[in-house]
Amino acid sequence: MNNEKQIVDALRKRGNKVTPQRLVTIEVLMTFREQHFSVEELFQGVKQRNPDVGMSTIYRTVQILEEMGLITKRNFDDGFARYELCELDEKHWHHHLICLKCGKVIEMQDDFLEALEKEIEEKKDFIIINHELKVYGYCSDCYAITKGDKFD
Ligand SMILES: [Zn+2]
Ligand SMILES: [Zn+2]
Ligand SMILES: [Zn+2]
Repeated sequence: MNNEKQIVDALRKRGNKVTPQRLVTIEVLMTFREQHFSVEELFQGVKQRNPDVGMSTIYRTVQILEEMGLITKRNFDDGFARYELCELDEKHWHHHLICLKCGKVIEMQDDFLEALEKEIEEKKDFIIINHELKVYGYCSDCYAITKGDKFD
């Protein structure tokens, strides 16, 4: 698990300045744990705590944290780039279940792909570093509403 202090320490170690504006950005970022957030959402959250923080600080901080592998960019095919916090102990990215009706994204923490990875590495002579799995369908809310009807 990353906490605020670990991120701040890692930034300082890397030679990045941790200004009060950057600190607020990181504080708000931590409230988005297990969520998929856009830079705009992060900006709105930061603005509530400190109206002096500019969009460029947010962008720059997000960019640095992405370079450090502490957050990753995600694309859920809805036209927005979103980010999420990476856990230090996360070996492979977790999977996402995407509802085609309401756009909800559900986290799936289990990998379940170990057998497939082993087979690929053996049969294809290929070393796997990571993978991203997106599963499309209907969440329980949407499935309940459209039950009996045909999905469009
Ligand atoms: Zn895996
Ligand atoms: Zn849904
Ligand atoms: Zn996720």
